[in-house]
Amino acid sequence: MKIIVVGCGRIGAELANNLYKQGHQVSVVDENKNAFNNLPPEFEGRILEGDALNQDILIRAGIESCDAMAAVTNYDPLNAVVSHVAKTEFNVPVVVARNYDPKLRKLFEVFNIQVVSSTSWGAQRVEELLSDSEVRTVFSAGNGEVEVYELQIPAVWDGNKVSDLITCNECKWLAVTRAGAAILPEADTVLKTGDVLTVAATMEGISDTRKNLKSRKEG
Ligand code: AMP
Repeated sequence: MKIIVVGCGRIGAELANNLYKQGHQVSVVDENKNAFNNLPPEFEGRILEGDALNQDILIRAGIESCDAMAAVTNYDPLNAVVSHVAKTEFNVPVVVARNYDPKLRKLFEVFNIQVVSSTSWGAQRVEELLSDSEVRTVFSAGNGEVEVYELQIPAVWDGNKVSDLITCNECKWLAVTRAGAAILPEADTVLKTGDVLTVAATMEGISDTRKNLKSRKEG
């Protein structure tokens, strides 16, 4: 695939090099020539110095015939505008933008752009690891509005029904895996120690579920 990476900082350089190693034709754009030092010497994709708001630089990078573009600078309005232009003016089939500041996420929703909110996602993952290791994210749908989680059932929840643990409308149970085999659970399926309960939830749903699980753990 022909892929353009806009921004060659901490995310862009790693992304560009990973894509290059997978055999893609990669062009990287950055306005700061020192940013290209983030790329390892073995990277042999194209590098273009210039402001991504300048359409000439995007055309030189091959936007008219590329298959995908990632806008991963540290400036959200720029990522949103460049992504919008790529989608609407150049019909780039796949466009993904980095959302740096969670407060500016709405900007991407207005343009209907696929976005990776690395800051919010990172904070959420760290919170997960700090708070309850029984709950871990395994899949993120859309822009992370709904995520799929696995809950490891500890001894203290043995004998609970699925509906005892999942009480919130924003959290739906999907599967119970016991000894490697999965079933579709009913509300009254009784859980055993070591089971893995898979659920899909919004941020609000998983937060409520966490509170419920915590209160059950503490009795
Ligand atoms: P980082 O925060 O380390 O991922 O770096 C973000 C990168 O985006 C930096 O290398 C910036 O030079 C680059 N960047 C910021 N604004 C622009 C722009 N208008 N055009 C091209 N690259 C940019």
